[in-house]
Amino acid sequence: MSSAPIFSWPQGCEGAISLTFDDGMRSQLEIAVPRLEERGFRGTFYLNPRGDDWQSRCASWLAPYQAGHEIGNHTMAHPCSLNTQLTLQGWTLEQIEADIVETERRLSVLFPANDRSFAYPCYESDIGRGPTRRSYVPVVARHLIAGRGKGLSNRGNHPLNADLHLLSSWAVERMSAWDLIGLVEQCLANGWWGILTIHGINEGHLPMPEVELCALLDYLVRQQGRVWTAPVATVARHILDHSSP
Ligand SMILES: [Zn+2]
Repeated sequence: MSSAPIFSWPQGCEGAISLTFDDGMRSQLEIAVPRLEERGFRGTFYLNPRGDDWQSRCASWLAPYQAGHEIGNHTMAHPCSLNTQLTLQGWTLEQIEADIVETERRLSVLFPANDRSFAYPCYESDIGRGPTRRSYVPVVARHLIAGRGKGLSNRGNHPLNADLHLLSSWAVERMSAWDLIGLVEQCLANGWWGILTIHGINEGHLPMPEVELCALLDYLVRQQGRVWTAPVATVARHILDHSSP
């Protein structure tokens, strides 16, 4: 008779939530970081350290890093189908690996970390097309502890069955706090891990209003005995350390 693997979230929580922010936008520094820290939360911020001046452009993220936020890998080039000059259709696995490795080298200079997660630009995890289409999830798995995609399910990630290198997330732009709380509650009911993908706060083409972010954060504070809110790499490390082989 086989027994189910034993797994539990920290401090008796029912599930986990990660708040992730893409592309190093100014509103994340000015609004998201302080709103999270006021409530004792830490998030994951995915940067693109591109260009010769990457060190100076990334320097404003040193304070959040030192405060305990995760600084994640989002590639230098940000290749995806929305970037018509730089789609993944013409890339090779060697090219995407070279970008990810150099991004990792640069981030490690300013933001050294034992564990770092990756976010697929535009949620796209394949290169090529048709007969040459290939997943680059195995490339991410060689270099980083976890990878955040989008996924097809609204339910979040089963802690033991999810592919840590192609995690589902909710694209939460334009959603109300009530919608988000509903997603979190559904996730908790299953004992799963929900990840929110956030871009600009009151900014950009995928905006999240600050008032909705704060309402969600206040809910997460009230539910701290039930919800473990932590960066992606922290949750992934917990899963790896607490799941049966
Ligand atoms: Zn992006």
